[in-house]
Amino acid sequence: MKSRVLILGAGFGGMELATLLSRSLGDDADVIIIDQRDSFVFGYSRIDVMFGKTTLDAVRLPYASFAKPGIRLVKETITAIDAEAKRVTTNRGTYEADFLVIALGADYDMAATPGLSEHGNEFYSDAGADRLRDIMPDFSGGPVIVGICGFPYKCPPGPSECALTLHHYLTERGIRDACDITFVSPLSSPMPASAEMANELVNTFEEYGIRLLRQKTVVRLEPGLAVLDDGTELPFGLFLGVPKHQPPQVVIDSGLTEDGWVTIDLPTLETRFADVYAIGDMAATGLPKSGTFAESAAQSVSSSILAKLAGGDVQRNTGQGTCIVEFGDGRVSYAELDFLTGPKLEAVFHPPSVAGKTFKNGFDETRRTRWFNA
Ligand SMILES: Cc1cc2nc3c(=O)[nH]c(=O)nc-3n(C[C@H](O)[C@H](O)[C@H](O)COP(=O)(O)OP(=O)(O)OC[C@H]3O[C@@H](n4cnc5c(N)ncnc54)[C@H](O)[C@@H]3O)c2cc1C
Repeated sequence: MKSRVLILGAGFGGMELATLLSRSLGDDADVIIIDQRDSFVFGYSRIDVMFGKTTLDAVRLPYASFAKPGIRLVKETITAIDAEAKRVTTNRGTYEADFLVIALGADYDMAATPGLSEHGNEFYSDAGADRLRDIMPDFSGGPVIVGICGFPYKCPPGPSECALTLHHYLTERGIRDACDITFVSPLSSPMPASAEMANELVNTFEEYGIRLLRQKTVVRLEPGLAVLDDGTELPFGLFLGVPKHQPPQVVIDSGLTEDGWVTIDLPTLETRFADVYAIGDMAATGLPKSGTFAESAAQSVSSSILAKLAGGDVQRNTGQGTCIVEFGDGRVSYAELDFLTGPKLEAVFHPPSVAGKTFKNGFDETRRTRWFNA
């Protein structure tokens, strides 16, 4: 009998894992992947959407194109996870598995920041970015805050990318002089894993006149006023926020979380239950919450499952990934990070360049081809 693999979530982690299992097992694979959505959107596309460079419809990659031997992708909402029994309930039925991989990403806890929904905007969800696409053209001047409401959050340089793109957007509209930009971050550095990238970002903020407030978190919004955790009050005409993150409620309810995120064994990504793994943003890895780290986790879990099914080597979680940041003027910088294969973090920094944009396009293209045969 085939071993049943159930993957929860068709994001970066889930799609990479399904692709790897299909490549190795072909029609012998018995993999079901469950997601509530009907399409995938790269996180970074949301910044293009909010600034009107594209539309949500143009960047959606429909799961209908995710067709691979041995894989069945179903559109259902997961309502309960019994990790011990490896049993999952959805709005349509129940699934049982021999291997269960939970890759449901991170959700946003809007209620954790009172006033954020009513008086501000967030650009980290598809809906939030799409709303801003309509709001931005009507903004004619005043203080703008790019504010982070909690840590950890996805893609450490993502909010910097927003602030830099905002500078160019306002400049192109001829209203930059009428706007102050303040960037509020809970971190001591805009890119903790690469000192060189952090320096480049800080220098560029200075050059563009973007005020950086470090080690501060936005805790509350009132009409036209952001309140920080040290009591500072900042007036704004436009608030662009990164909401506090948390695992999806169904993951919290499964009892797998501890101190907010799903506890795993870092080298294998296995939870406290045998053959139950957690990968990507919801796992408590201590690594950046970023698609490429979800991919390297998927590579490790794929090797574990294949080793248990057919023998072979297990690849420990490498903690390798790439953080890419647009500087908003056509140049892109990126840092190749390796957290776990050596004695200490290795970071290879690529300064902002037009060639960096070609690298990013290749990153996007590779995944479209690999996952969606696009
Ligand atoms: C603005 C922005 C920019 C970013 N830029 C980058 C970048 O340049 N490079 C990079 O690598 N990463 C980037 N990221 C981060 C990246 O998008 C995430 O880290 C990555 O998607 C995490 O992968 P994952 O597999 O853990 O979860 P996800 O990709 O979020 O996938 C989780 C899936 O689970 C599904 N799901 C959740 N709950 C349920 C449920 N109850 N039932 C059914 N399905 C459910 C969701 O629909 C989703 O498809 C960015 C993110 C943002 C917001």
